[in-house]
Amino acid sequence: MPKHPSPQRVKRHQIYTVWEAADAVGTHRQTVIRWIKDKGLPADTSQRPWLIEGREFKAFLEERRTRGKCRLRPGQVFCLPCRGPKNPDGRMADFHLKTPTTGTLIGICPDCGRLMHRFIRRADLDQIRAQLDVTISKAVPRLVEPDEPNETVTLKQEPRTYGKTQRR
Ligand SMILES: [Zn+2]
Repeated sequence: MPKHPSPQRVKRHQIYTVWEAADAVGTHRQTVIRWIKDKGLPADTSQRPWLIEGREFKAFLEERRTRGKCRLRPGQVFCLPCRGPKNPDGRMADFHLKTPTTGTLIGICPDCGRLMHRFIRRADLDQIRAQLDVTISKAVPRLVEPDEPNETVTLKQEPRTYGKTQRR
């Protein structure tokens, strides 16, 4: 099993279940579950099966591979172009909540001025906020595009029926 699975095997526009994600990069299903639970891989865990967006899975693997063995301190974010851990410029960062438990910390690299991203668990946010001034913003709900037809929204607002049948 490769230590850092290749992000190239992930299709950006595909939605993966845990099983499919593990299969795509040749890793164990438990590893993917651990990535979601402990490493901040964004996934929709509000229902079964858990769903992972291809582009986020890809970004997650890219970050992991480039970062390698480098350990980040709570307030640090890895800058891909500089290939090193950085304290975000002005000690400020934005946190975008992606799922109820995970999100992305975004800061500006003090050296190259580019945006840096770090996948984190919401549970780690307190520790990070001790180091950085973090602005929290709630992202658009995942898997529902803003330009999606209104009927999807209407459907979601309907009272729950007793049948477990899912309409899509
Ligand atoms: Zn940089």
